[in-house]
Amino acid sequence: MAFSAKTPRTLIKPDHPSPLNTNNHSPKSIYFSNQRKAHQISSTKPHQQLSVLNTNSLNTDNPNSHLHLLCLNGHLQQALNYIDSMKELQIPLDEDAAIALVRLCEWKRAFEEGFKVYCFISNSGNPLSLRLGNALLSMFVKFGKLGDAWYVFGKMQERDVFSWNVLIGGYAKKGFFDEALCLYHRMLWVGFKPDVYTFPCVLRTCGAVPNLERGKEVHVHVIRFGFEADVDVVNALVTMYVKCGDLARARLLFDKMTRKDRISWNAIISGYFENGECLEGIMLFFMMREHCVDPDLMTMTSVISACESLGDDRLGREIHGYVIVTGMSDDVSVCNSLIQMYSSLGRWEAAEKVFDRMEWRDVVSWTAMISGYENNVLPEKAVDTYRTMELQGFIPDEITLASVLSACACLRKLDMGIKLHELAKRSGLISYIIVANTLIDMYSKCKCIDKALEVFHNIPDKDVISWTAIILGLRLNNRCFEALIFFRQMKLSLKPNSVTLVTVLSACARIGGLMCGKEIHAYALRTGMGLEGFIPNALLDMYVRCGRMGPARNQFNSQKEDVAAWNILLTGYAQRGQGTLAVEFFNRMIESNVNPDEITFIPLLCACSKSGMVTEGLMYFNTMELEYGVAPNLKHYACVVDLLGRAGQLQEAYEFIMEMPIKPDPAIWGALLNACRIHRQVGLGEFAAQRIFECDTTSVGYYVLLCNLYAGNGKWNEVGKVRKMMKDNGLTIDPGCSWVEVKGKIHAFLSGDDFHPQINEIYAVLEGIYEKMKVVGLDVPKGDSTDDVEISKAEIFCGHSERLAVAFGLINTVPGTPIWVTKNLYMCQSCHSTIKFISKIVRREISVRDTEQFHHFKDGTCSCGDVGILGKT
Ligand SMILES: [Zn+2]
Ligand SMILES: [Zn+2]
Repeated sequence: MAFSAKTPRTLIKPDHPSPLNTNNHSPKSIYFSNQRKAHQISSTKPHQQLSVLNTNSLNTDNPNSHLHLLCLNGHLQQALNYIDSMKELQIPLDEDAAIALVRLCEWKRAFEEGFKVYCFISNSGNPLSLRLGNALLSMFVKFGKLGDAWYVFGKMQERDVFSWNVLIGGYAKKGFFDEALCLYHRMLWVGFKPDVYTFPCVLRTCGAVPNLERGKEVHVHVIRFGFEADVDVVNALVTMYVKCGDLARARLLFDKMTRKDRISWNAIISGYFENGECLEGIMLFFMMREHCVDPDLMTMTSVISACESLGDDRLGREIHGYVIVTGMSDDVSVCNSLIQMYSSLGRWEAAEKVFDRMEWRDVVSWTAMISGYENNVLPEKAVDTYRTMELQGFIPDEITLASVLSACACLRKLDMGIKLHELAKRSGLISYIIVANTLIDMYSKCKCIDKALEVFHNIPDKDVISWTAIILGLRLNNRCFEALIFFRQMKLSLKPNSVTLVTVLSACARIGGLMCGKEIHAYALRTGMGLEGFIPNALLDMYVRCGRMGPARNQFNSQKEDVAAWNILLTGYAQRGQGTLAVEFFNRMIESNVNPDEITFIPLLCACSKSGMVTEGLMYFNTMELEYGVAPNLKHYACVVDLLGRAGQLQEAYEFIMEMPIKPDPAIWGALLNACRIHRQVGLGEFAAQRIFECDTTSVGYYVLLCNLYAGNGKWNEVGKVRKMMKDNGLTIDPGCSWVEVKGKIHAFLSGDDFHPQINEIYAVLEGIYEKMKVVGLDVPKGDSTDDVEISKAEIFCGHSERLAVAFGLINTVPGTPIWVTKNLYMCQSCHSTIKFISKIVRREISVRDTEQFHHFKDGTCSCGDVGILGKT
């Protein structure tokens, strides 16, 4: 069929059978030998037309009658064989038999057979009669073959309103709304009066576009042709107005209706729900019951969903009671809505109860329950439910997969996630973007960023969520540099949302990407997102972590100051070891009537600890519960151990741990180990390390601390043993990486990076500095040492990448400009003293943020007071 179903207008050419020629009343076909009185079908409802149980009189002597009988009995194949033999015997097919055959094909949804019958009819070369034409039209529309339908329509010598209705309905159903409306107008133009079937179809089309102006026009036609009192037509008008968002007009019509049926009520009630006016919709639902109209399943599912939108638990339970009383609680769709409602109200136990009582469930029920668990942070239950669903032989859909994948991401269940990925590929569900996006999230959280990237690159039409998921994935896997590159790419085609911006700001904060962070700040202000969701605090955090306390304070002053904002700024002071400022800031927070929370006391105690303010720190710890109502948790205890330990009160720190009312965790022993490292207490440090490795053998940080404890005391054999333990446990340290921002562009330097275009210049600068260090008698890092002892030194945990970054900064910025470097590992003693020296000889302020804190170097000294560095000798 050469005709495009989408463009009927182009078909109206003089050389084609024109649908406009409806007044061409040619004489009925003489081909049909056994003409009976035409069965009047134009006024019957379309669905009645589909019936094959037409009881015309039969004559078994007549082949046509025999064929008719075969059709009435539903023997399609026999009937087709029969017409083949009729064709051979050149017995013409009569109209009734042909119609019966066409209807049988339609009823059996046998497209190929139907098309064969159509060819048989049209090969006769005779014009189509009205009845047969209508039957063919109806069949092709049912099969969705609009091109064929259109062709039949064109070939019909005569048409009636039914012919038009079928064609208009066919186009509307396929989503060709403009074409459907165009056909409707043509129908009026050629002088047909629309009937009760025309209007609902045309009005549905106006609602689907939605096109209120057209809808109003059709409303005028309804009045003009006198269908104002027809309940079906008015229902369709109400629905049209609702879909076009004109609730007032819909309501006016509804209120004026003298006879309302259940469909009228459903139309107006769901109309209110769809337009977000759930309360008014619920009121109408109660009115409906007052008017003694019984709600049906459709009413109830929409009312239950409205309770969900309203977040009204009490009303929801009342409605639940009502569906039980009215016996509708056995219906699957009602139960599914109830599960959905209860889980989104956070009442997953009630949802579970509904689910458990269901006699039979469909995939929607299972999915509702799985996503319900997932949304209520019960990923284990979600996974278990999915397993049961699988065992019972249900095939998951895209929502099921996305929900269970989220649960796997939460639980870091990589093996199950991989299986679901395979299932998604097999079933084709991967083509749903929601599935692909959750796969990215799952792989990212399971630390398989390369798999996440693979999924991402295979999505043909990536949306904002896909991009945000991969940017977050890169951020979580410490590939922030790439995260920023992806963000730039994304901006070329899509508008990031507030979640994207928060994610990118966190990546900037991680690698000290101040300029990029500032760009996002400007972008957020420009697009009006500056105050949206977590953006203000993400900006604050970015400034703090990039070490810019000035802009951080400005941002703080310009935003709504919630407790999280105070905590972020307090963390800034703590990371810089500014105990006095932190205490002042805390006092200001109390004066401003902001209640400190659990988090507040962590940076506060930490700041005291770094500044040696033991008395103040202990005072806050001892009063936090009494004065501020915050009970100390393990993290606070760890802070106190750090506070005492750093100050050299190791015995007190140890006793503090032994007297703790809760069981100490590895982090607490870690704080003691760190203090032992600083104060070179090997014995107590080893004791602490033993306690740690009793429950945690996978955290690299503790091994590094222990190595440094041994290294600081010259115990190189022990260092070797610890490194072997790490190797045996399959632990590796991320390669050292430092970032420096020069003229708004971030440059990354890996340890031993020899591929940088300026690498020779960088080494030349460093060599020059080492020469000067030798002159004043400072230790200079040894070149390519292969000595086992040498490479065992604590410095291996540093990578020294910050030196490359600093040298690069020196080369590429004007003298006097401060240099800001961020690195992913701890800074070693050797790098620390080298950079101290550099800051003195080049008279530059250099700032290095390692995994723990900021080091601000100026005139040969560091703000950390040389306490915070590893491998100190
Ligand atoms: Zn180093
Ligand atoms: Zn320092």
